[in-house]
This record gives sequence, structure tokens and C-alpha cells, in this order.
Amino acid sequence: MELTRLRGFQDLLGPSAETFTFIEERARQCAERHGFREIRIPLIERLELYDRSTGETTDIVQKQMYKIERPPESGATGEMVLRPEGTPGVVRAYIEAGLDRSDPEQRFFYSGPMLRYERPQKGRYRQFYQFGVEVFARPDPACDAELLVMIDEFRRALGIRLTVQINSIGDPVCRPAFRDAVLKFGLAHREEICADCKQRLERNPLRLLDCKIDAALVESAPKSVDYLCAECSAHFGRVKDLSAAAGVEFVENPRLVRGLDYYTRTTFEIISADVGAQSTVIAGGRYDGLVETLGGAAVPGIGFAMGIERLALALEMAGRAPKFALDAAVIAMGEPATRKAMTVALAMRQRGLRVEMLSPERKLKALLGRAAKIGARFAVIIGETELQKGVVVLRDLRASSQTELSEAQLAETVLAARTE
Ligand code: ATP
Ligand code: MG
Repeated sequence: MELTRLRGFQDLLGPSAETFTFIEERARQCAERHGFREIRIPLIERLELYDRSTGETTDIVQKQMYKIERPPESGATGEMVLRPEGTPGVVRAYIEAGLDRSDPEQRFFYSGPMLRYERPQKGRYRQFYQFGVEVFARPDPACDAELLVMIDEFRRALGIRLTVQINSIGDPVCRPAFRDAVLKFGLAHREEICADCKQRLERNPLRLLDCKIDAALVESAPKSVDYLCAECSAHFGRVKDLSAAAGVEFVENPRLVRGLDYYTRTTFEIISADVGAQSTVIAGGRYDGLVETLGGAAVPGIGFAMGIERLALALEMAGRAPKFALDAAVIAMGEPATRKAMTVALAMRQRGLRVEMLSPERKLKALLGRAAKIGARFAVIIGETELQKGVVVLRDLRASSQTELSEAQLAETVLAARTE
């Protein structure tokens, strides 16, 4: 047996891990600036949680969930799964903490891996990372618009271009009529639709509009906005007004229904033109019935989740991925100099510089080669002579020039080069 990673799973080494962290940090900053608090939820939940929220008829629940077995001696019953998405777990935690009754208005963000058994391809993996937010007890359209504003701030912070698509899919009052219309449409085109859609038709006809295969057919399908009741229509109008007033650019996509069962009213997807076929980098919407469905009070909710893999790809394509920059490599020649070098390195790090101490057991030439290889901006060299004179040698590895400095000047000089 070869010890390789499983298909659909990725190792992230150095630059790719750093790009992920960079995106997650920017997302966290944005969320915190909007008053979101962090929530950490388990990786494993009961299968029923997703049955009841994500929906028994969705692809996720039907064919994408990893089931887990307990140790045989546990004796416990009930199926468990690895989380395929964050929202159901967050809602469960919210209800379990009693917040739906004691203090319903809450806003949370989460970050971490999700697992789905899907066919791996570019931008689609079996383990992928999501950063998501959920807002509870804010049914007003200003809340929806603020989420779009936040996404726009996030996009700017990353320095990439994204397209915002929005739609409203109505509520329990008006959606049944729309659902019937899509069902009729599907039945009328029964011969043309794909095999998956034939199944969807029986179980959840709205999913037809999510079909990636029959895009052309979907174009001629009924539009949800034509079926909205007065309240849903007014709500959607306010979301659009407020978003536009806040400078958010968006387009309406009347076929945007989202693959999950729990959405109501506003739905949105954020698309990147630079990442290939899997182009939706952020997806979300309103889920006014979900808290109640999971046994809580009738509290409305709205949220979104972003896929870090696809955003990382967008960043790379735009040349915006962060570059790790090591400020200095410290090179010591001889034992007394090594002692000195360690305190010099420490002082530099205390000023926030990135400093790697190289092995004192190799020759200067080899160490200078090593310093260049790891991308250090400077080499700081300390030998017997420097020790006696009370100085260090600062070698600029780009200009291949060097100067003698006092220890006191060192950090300042290296810091100044950062802004050059
Ligand atoms: P898709 O239509 O691409 O399968 P989805 O509707 O299943 O997406 P959501 O469950 O809404 O996606 O998840 C939100 C975001 O998470 C997606 O827009 C995408 O960026 C990311 N995502 C979802 N599934 C994967 C995956 N298997 N690999 C990588 N990213 C994913
Ligand atoms: Mg999917």
C-alpha cells in the first residue's frame, strides 16, 4: 500500500497555505468590523441535522456525506456524519445555547474544513475550507444589503474582481405557485432534461433551475420574481435599493435558486470570472424557516459561505496572492559570535521582523547561498572581528552590497527597507 493522500484531498504547503490564511484573516477582519463574533462548531454531527436542514432531497444529503463509525465497543446508536457545510451546525448550536429565546439577535462567523464526497476537479475537492457568517433575528432588508456591502469590502481587501448575482425565491406564501410552475415546465420538457433533473423533478423541482448541464433550457424556465407576493416583492426591492445606494454593483439572476432546501427570499452568488468552471466563490441567502425547522423558536436568519480554494485561485490568477518575505538571515561565525547572533536575532524579531538564524556549522559562502535561497532580503553577518568591534555586517542580498552597522541601527535599517 502506498502512503499517498486520498483523492480529492489536498496538502497545502507554504505558499498555498499562506494564501488560505491570508484570505481567512481578511474575511475575519471584515466580519469583525461588522460586529460578528466567532463560533466554533464540531466537525461531526448527527445525520438527522442535515436531513432536516440541508434537505433529504439535496445532492449533499443524498450522495455527498461521509458517514462515521464509532468504535465497536461504544455501544451507542444513531448515524453520524462529517459536516458538509456550516449553517446547520451553527443553527443547532444557537438553539442549543437557548439564544433563540433568551437573546435572539446574534451574528456569528465560522471558519474551517467541510467534507463532501464529490467528483474532484479544479475548484472542487472532497475536503474544502469555508468561511461563513450567519445573522439571526434580522428579517429586515437592510440586513441583507449589509451582507452584500460586507462582501464588497472583502472583495476590495483582496484586490480582486467579483460579480454579485441576486434573486428572491419568495416565501411559504408565494413559493408553492412558483414551484408548481417550474414543475409544469419540467414535465413539459421531460424528454430534454438531464437524468439528474428527472429525479429532481419528482422530489424538488426548483433544483431544476440549478442544473449546470441544461443551462440553455433553464433560460426559458419560469422566473421566481414573477411569482413573488407583495411582501416578498417589497422586501426584494428594498434589498436592491439599499445595496445600490451603498455602492454595491450587482446583477439580477432570476434563475438563482441555490441547491439547498432551507432558503427563502434573498439568495445570492458571487462569481469570479478567473477561476474556470467552478466559478461561484461565495453563496448565501435568507433562511427564515430554518431555526424553527430544527426545533427552535420562529427566528429568521440569513448568511453566506465562501469557498477558500476558489478564492485562492482567484487571488493567484489576479497576481494578488501574498508573498512570504523573510527580512533577514543571521549568519554567525564561531561560538562566541553565535551567542551574540542569537540575541541580535531576538531583538530584531521583537521589532516585528522575520528573521531566520542559519546553522553556524557551515561556511560563509554556503550560508550566503542559503540566505538567498530562502528569499531573505538581508544577511546579518557576525564573526570574530565584528564581535570585537561591537558591530554587525548587513549584507543587502539584492544589491550585493554591505555595510557595517551598530546593533542599535540594525532593526531600523532593515525595517526601512520594507517600505522601499
Ligand atoms: P456548487 O454548485 O459549486 O457545488 P454548492 O451550491 O454546493 O456549490 P455551497 O454549499 O453553497 O455550494 O457552498 C458555498 C461555497 O463553498 C461554494 O460557492 C464554493 O465556493 C464552496 N464549495 C462548495 N463545495 C465545494 C467543493 N467541493 N470544493 C471546493 N469548494 C466548494
Ligand atoms: Mg455542491
